[in-house]
Amino acid sequence: MIAPTAAVERAAVATAVGRTVAATTAKRATETRAAKKPPAVSVPQRTYASAAGERPLSAAEVFLDVSPATRVLSLWKRGGRTGSGNGLTRTDARGIARTLPYQTVRVFLREQFRCAPSEEEIARAIELPDSGICGFGMDPAYRNRDSIAAVAGAVSSRRATLASQIAGDVSRYLPEARAWKKVRIWFVIASQTMFDAVSLRASADGDSVPVILINLTDVLSYGDTTAERLETLEHVLAHEVFHAGLRQAEAPLPGWADYRDNSLPDFAYIRRVMVDEGVAHYIDWRERPGSDSLFTWKPSSREAFAFSQLATACRRLKQPGAARGDLIEILQLAGTGPLWSKYGAISGMFAAHRIEAALGRKVLRLAVEAGPDEFLRTYRQVASRNPRLSGIPAELITQQ
Ligand SMILES: [Zn+2]
Repeated sequence: MIAPTAAVERAAVATAVGRTVAATTAKRATETRAAKKPPAVSVPQRTYASAAGERPLSAAEVFLDVSPATRVLSLWKRGGRTGSGNGLTRTDARGIARTLPYQTVRVFLREQFRCAPSEEEIARAIELPDSGICGFGMDPAYRNRDSIAAVAGAVSSRRATLASQIAGDVSRYLPEARAWKKVRIWFVIASQTMFDAVSLRASADGDSVPVILINLTDVLSYGDTTAERLETLEHVLAHEVFHAGLRQAEAPLPGWADYRDNSLPDFAYIRRVMVDEGVAHYIDWRERPGSDSLFTWKPSSREAFAFSQLATACRRLKQPGAARGDLIEILQLAGTGPLWSKYGAISGMFAAHRIEAALGRKVLRLAVEAGPDEFLRTYRQVASRNPRLSGIPAELITQQ
């Protein structure tokens, strides 16, 4: 069994996809037609009564809050690099460290990186950016404070537009639900290169309302200008909001019943990653410049590589006598690590693309709603009609 860890995204790392490949659109259209030939593919159906009053996630549920970051920036404006020296900026820094967003950052650091800074240590690190502690070296952020302020300002002034773009991107693929909890997106300032974006099931006070932390220090690596950074940030936010939305939407869905535990059997864990991370990556990447060279008619080397890594991982997981620690490491690579090596996330992303290209967006959304077993079954059906596509390893196939 493996506990799904919080997903730390490294969306900006490496490899923006290359620019346009000619004629992919036309080829994709051919594929769509070919796949729709009879005999008809059996597409996911709802096998349970649809509850009345279901609706898509809307912009009203996407709550963008830059105040955790701007409070730090304004403290730095008053105290500079060394603080006010009379205790005033330390008092303010303590106030910031006590807020729910920074308490939540502390919980996240403790759980993910095994470093547990105290509230007082966080306050000191905020007030005096030269002083570092585990997980909280603020010097890079201090040096780049003007750039961080520019991103925070841009997010703040475009809040409404961003929220509706994100809700639009996500709800294309996210199942509907009767009620949505607001997804809180807290923009914080933390260490460089530790995390850029993360979705958590709850904040530090255990309120079980989804939270997304965005580390503006790392958002700077998304581009060279505020506009470039904002462009990528929007995709990353859509990715994270999909996770936060899926956790809410899946709760009553029968096809997700075996996938909701905090601890899942190994292959169930991979299946979950393929949908949860796979579709999140698909939402994230399909709108990026150059995505038409990634989502091509003929499978790219990235697509083939992801599925071959998936097959290798499944084989290794089945080998007798492996140490549990090694197996957990293999499992974690399904959804974490360098972008193109995340075999579960990336194979799931391409599976989502193949389902949409062959059967349409609505079928993809129904497959997500019907759960990981059905998602994989639908992909297998698409792949069985196109010899260029990779198959699903036998270990991942469930009896239905
Ligand atoms: Zn993710």
